[in-house]
Amino acid sequence: MPQSRAASEIEMEEMYDMLIIGAGPAGLTAGLYGSRSNLKTVIIEKGLPGGELLNTEAIEDYTGFEHVTGVELARLMENHARKFGVEIKTLEEVTSVVRRDGAFEVTTSEAKYKALTVIVTAGGTPIKLAVPGEDAYAGRGVSYCAVCDGAFFNGQVITVVGGGDAAVEEANYLTRFGSKVFVVHRRDQFRAQKILQDQLIKNPKVEIIWDTVVDDIKGNAEVDRITLHNRKTDKKWEHPTQGVFIFIGFKPNTYFLEDHPEHDISGHLITNDRMETSIPGLFASGDIRSQLVRQITNAVGDATVAALAAEKYITHLRHIQASGTTPGSPA
Ligand SMILES: Cc1cc2nc3c(=O)[nH]c(=O)nc-3n(C[C@H](O)[C@H](O)[C@H](O)COP(=O)(O)OP(=O)(O)OC[C@H]3O[C@@H](n4cnc5c(N)ncnc54)[C@H](O)[C@@H]3O)c2cc1C
Repeated sequence: MPQSRAASEIEMEEMYDMLIIGAGPAGLTAGLYGSRSNLKTVIIEKGLPGGELLNTEAIEDYTGFEHVTGVELARLMENHARKFGVEIKTLEEVTSVVRRDGAFEVTTSEAKYKALTVIVTAGGTPIKLAVPGEDAYAGRGVSYCAVCDGAFFNGQVITVVGGGDAAVEEANYLTRFGSKVFVVHRRDQFRAQKILQDQLIKNPKVEIIWDTVVDDIKGNAEVDRITLHNRKTDKKWEHPTQGVFIFIGFKPNTYFLEDHPEHDISGHLITNDRMETSIPGLFASGDIRSQLVRQITNAVGDATVAALAAEKYITHLRHIQASGTTPGSPA
């Protein structure tokens, strides 16, 4: 029967204590703590270790590093995690996670695994405008993170694209850096909460460009202008700007979770303060988690909690297996 064939394939794989999905800052930190606690720990990464760090030119807000490139920080984090013996499998994508008989069966593009706990640190992907110049100028004027990159645009003209809560909130935040902040929105009203809209509209540094979309992003070494296009009048014009902040949505990478843990309206996983999701043994941390800010500092902080809480969960599981008692909550 197909079912028993699948089960025997899985049994051929080793059992891990902790399986971590994604080798960004959160995954590498969870891996460090898992392996340092002597747990059999594996990280599965569909690309290369570093996550969004590999797309980040310069980082100036990770405590202890006044300035570090994303690639360098990724290398340091990977080496540090490997020092404690974590296995890192790269270029291998997790395609399914199912909880069965108190453990997890994890299928990837290459193999099947079993694990007592899974920590999901698969991050998310900002939704792109998909216009010419967007990819070419990423990190050279185009950004998807105001807290990360706002300070690089001190005294310059910033253009925010979007009309939801994130766009309006981040536009408000960016007024502390930009000499002027334009907000380009494809409709004639925002979807954002009224209170955020009121703050934005009252700000003298802000100008809203309604019914308008971005056709392309241009410049030389860095962005210096974008082409705007009014959808109602069909008028097109070049709009000078140094920063283009795009907030049209962020899609958390949860597509491989077959059981559905609780999540917020945007699909980010809801956890308690131990980083436990609503599925026992399934933890989440970093950008995939429902939370106020998405930064490296809190991704690694959350991952520390997740790994240590997973360790307590495993200890508790082993204790109840040994004593034959009924499972309760780990202390
Ligand atoms: C352009 C940019 C600049 C930024 N600058 C800063 C900054 O200056 N300071 C700061 O603090 N923060 C910054 N951030 C935010 C910061 O990078 C994130 O908060 C942080 O990387 C989150 O870490 P994470 O491990 O949760 O997720 P990620 O870094 O997104 O890592 C997730 C990993 O999971 C992998 N993955 C996804 N799906 C699967 C799958 N199915 N199977 C296997 N692997 C999978 C991905 O390939 C990725 O490597 C920036 C973000 C961006 C996009």
